[in-house]
Amino acid sequence: MTTRVVTVEYVTYDTKDEAVDAVWQSLRDQAAGMVRQCPHCGQWFRQNGKQVYCQPECARLTHWDRFKVHRPPRDHKAEYAARKSVPPSCPLPA
Ligand SMILES: [Zn+2]
Repeated sequence: MTTRVVTVEYVTYDTKDEAVDAVWQSLRDQAAGMVRQCPHCGQWFRQNGKQVYCQPECARLTHWDRFKVHRPPRDHKAEYAARKSVPPSCPLPA
């Protein structure tokens, strides 16, 4: 069992407005750390956990762009012709 030590800082304000301003400032500071810009489309969004992209589609497109650079080119017509030229073989023994 681990013991967690939490330090609580008590701050008092002279007026209610000062206290409300302090709460708003605290919320603004927290929100500013949670707002990020999507590296794919540039859209601003509120970060949820370790979220990097604004939506799954941006993450998918970024990963695809990164993958397709190293992907060897394919000749689909030649592959199809090669597949068609081989007669289907019977897997059962004669
Ligand atoms: Zn995006």
